[in-house]
Amino acid sequence: MYDYDYDFFVIGAGSGGVRSSRRAASYGAKVGLCEDYRVGGTCVIRGCVPKKLFVYASEYSAHFRDSKGFGWSYDDAAFNWSALLAAKDKEIDRLNGLYSNVLKNHNVEVIQARGRITGAHSLELTSPSGVKEITAEKILIATGAWPMMPDIPGIEHAISSNEAFHLDVLPEKIAIVGGGYIAVEFAGIFLGMGVQTSLLYRGEQILRGFDKDISSKLTEEMSKKGMDVRLKVNVNEIIKTEQGLDLKLSDGSILSVGAVMYATGRVPNIKGLGLEELGVKLRANNSIITNEYFKTNIDSIFAVGDVTGNIQLTPIAIKEGSALSETEFNNNPTKVDYENIPTAVFSQPSIGTVGLSEEEAALKYGAENIKTYRSEFRSMKFTLADRDERSLMKLITVKNTDKVVGAHIIGPDAAEIIQGFAVALKLGATKEDFDNTVAVHPSAAEEFVLL
Ligand code: NDP
Repeated sequence: MYDYDYDFFVIGAGSGGVRSSRRAASYGAKVGLCEDYRVGGTCVIRGCVPKKLFVYASEYSAHFRDSKGFGWSYDDAAFNWSALLAAKDKEIDRLNGLYSNVLKNHNVEVIQARGRITGAHSLELTSPSGVKEITAEKILIATGAWPMMPDIPGIEHAISSNEAFHLDVLPEKIAIVGGGYIAVEFAGIFLGMGVQTSLLYRGEQILRGFDKDISSKLTEEMSKKGMDVRLKVNVNEIIKTEQGLDLKLSDGSILSVGAVMYATGRVPNIKGLGLEELGVKLRANNSIITNEYFKTNIDSIFAVGDVTGNIQLTPIAIKEGSALSETEFNNNPTKVDYENIPTAVFSQPSIGTVGLSEEEAALKYGAENIKTYRSEFRSMKFTLADRDERSLMKLITVKNTDKVVGAHIIGPDAAEIIQGFAVALKLGATKEDFDNTVAVHPSAAEEFVLL
């Protein structure tokens, strides 16, 4: 038997790393973790959490307008970006402290350093105070992903969502490039904060892979709110001017903006980890290949979360981190079930989705074997407000089993609504089960059991 400094050493204090290290320590392992920035990772520091706070902030402009229909009046509603940034930073500091304490309370030793794997059981930790060598029986890579910026002339003038959380001033006009989660969420945020917003997407329909009715509804509703949504267009070059930036677009036009934000996907964060030298197997996009128990081709090295290029969602990284520690430190081999993962897009209006889109179901079962139920309506909340925004709900069922294989909603509170229906799909609910469920009235969610 070798004597290692740690039973388990984790690189990266994001969602996957924090969960896995705590869980391993709770089973009695001696656990160390290194992080070169702040505990919490992308989700807490520069992702889900500050993003959602920004979404809440940006929604107030519409709430103020709506409130007049309910008898409210106001004269001086004004938005202060610096005040929001300061409040957001304070909350992130609080969460950062909370996460650090959780690790401390679970006896995970947190080392502020950058980790590099030098052997199957050894690491080099670099911090301002120097370089330290350590050994560990098992090593986990949980370093997440980083924004991918395409290689076009002038890309150095663009920002990613990382910088969007710290802009000194809000630009008057912004262009967001991309049509995925981050692009549509930030486009809604900036628009709600009063910024003239253009969303530039290279394909025919934003949110590729989502149910097409849902993604085209989002395009329609965002356009109605005054967003300049442009499809089948890309940026060929970014030119810095005295006033701001000129974007040379693929359709030959020029779009002048104060800032351009790229949300063109995120790539595995493996730089400087020493993986190539070690021979850890990677895919062409640099994601780490693991087996279903998160083990790489080297027996003592594991990876979870975005760095594996799997589904880039916080709850998935958490589940993977947990499963790995169950397997390795509790003698309980545990896999993650990737079926029916619910997700929400915090666009405006928001989207909640679980299971198959109509297109995916048609491919899997044959278009003639599925039945789709659909309801489009104006939310009660918007009637007095006279807001011209409509919600859409869809259920996709398989005819011969009556099983619901997809549930999709775009409208207010979509994320809150879809979570419960995800349980129903996980349990294999049929359309009849939905029909037999008493509606919660009056609500938007009840539409799902009244279709
Ligand atoms: P996505 O993969 O969702 O979207 C990337 C977008 O950029 C796509 O529309 C893609 O187009 C486009 N794109 C890719 N390369 C280029 C290029 N070279 N030029 C122009 N456009 C390009 O990535 P995001 O960055 O939005 O988010 C990363 C991940 O983070 C998501 O996949 C999601 O899993 C997660 N996330 C989840 C959130 C949530 O749960 N609410 C919120 C934010 C992020 P095309 O479709 O044509 O490939």
